[in-house]
Amino acid sequence: MSTRAVVRHQQWTLQPDREPDAEPSSYAMQCAVCGETSPTDTEYEAPQDWVFAHGGRNPSHHTYREIITRPWRAWWKP
Ligand SMILES: [Zn+2]
Repeated sequence: MSTRAVVRHQQWTLQPDREPDAEPSSYAMQCAVCGETSPTDTEYEAPQDWVFAHGGRNPSHHTYREIITRPWRAWWKP
């Protein structure tokens, strides 16, 4: 059995997608203590409200991570 890979050498361009039809950026917060994650939203408010509610239920959980999902696009360079 043999494995063969074919690689084409073409130049790609890659950049954040700012086109009008791009997917929106979205945000979530994750507790760094227990790993629980907020719902994802396109605004900051809901994930941040989740932090206050989570901290209220878990008074020793003080550290969080922000998870940002940002759309990118890639295309062949002409
Ligand atoms: Zn937690």
